Amino acid sequence: MIDTHAHIDDPQYEEGLDRFIKEQQDAGVEAILVPGVDVASIEPVRKVCERFPAYLYPAIGLHPENVKDDYKDQLSTLHSHLSTLNYIAIGEIGLDYHFDTTFKARQQEALRIQLAWAVERDLPVMIHSRDATEDCLNILKEFPSLRGVMHCYSGSNETAKQIIDMGLYLGIGGVITFKNCKLRDNLGGIPLERLVLETDAPYMAPVPYRGQRNESRWMRYVANVLAEVYNTTFEHIDTVTTNNAKLLFALNI
Ligand SMILES: [Zn+2]
Repeated sequence: MIDTHAHIDDPQYEEGLDRFIKEQQDAGVEAILVPGVDVASIEPVRKVCERFPAYLYPAIGLHPENVKDDYKDQLSTLHSHLSTLNYIAIGEIGLDYHFDTTFKARQQEALRIQLAWAVERDLPVMIHSRDATEDCLNILKEFPSLRGVMHCYSGSNETAKQIIDMGLYLGIGGVITFKNCKLRDNLGGIPLERLVLETDAPYMAPVPYRGQRNESRWMRYVANVLAEVYNTTFEHIDTVTTNNAKLLFALNI
């Protein structure tokens, strides 16, 4: 298993981190990708990834919830850091209209700027989209050569089909284990070759750990649900999604 989205730089993981990482490795997690969310996260992400090289992989980006008045300064600082580390992706970036639509236009501008970075550098993107599906897909369509993942996917079947038609992947996390989650049905017609596993740790812990600080090894519960949905085995889900993640993020492991 590869966790394609986990905020291991979060202070909640600081205590006992060596042991935590060992536990993930022992449980079959081959790699963990750590997205950035703003300028302030550049250093913590770098530090934690350098502490566990070839296991934690860093990404860089400005999360839509962090697009505030200083977004231009943040973007220029982030841009100046792109070559300072071997970033495997631009992310997480996107649109989030859930709590605040005041910054809609600025979120869209920030997204376009960062998508252009990804295309220029031939890096995949980690997309966060909440209550903004239409705008998000329209902007992504402006960048036809884009590679990437729609992280923490929980939308409709129709939207899922649009996303994979654009050549993007769906990041499947703990949400699919929640009771009454429609995502199980909404994956109809979506090939397994377009799915990657993720946690969004520390958030989104799967059942039976819902509400706790999430761990990459608990993706096993997500994979088990996917095995049911695709009428196959955990091992097959593991093999295919791991290969998908290696391919998308060009991981040499
Ligand atoms: Zn995230």
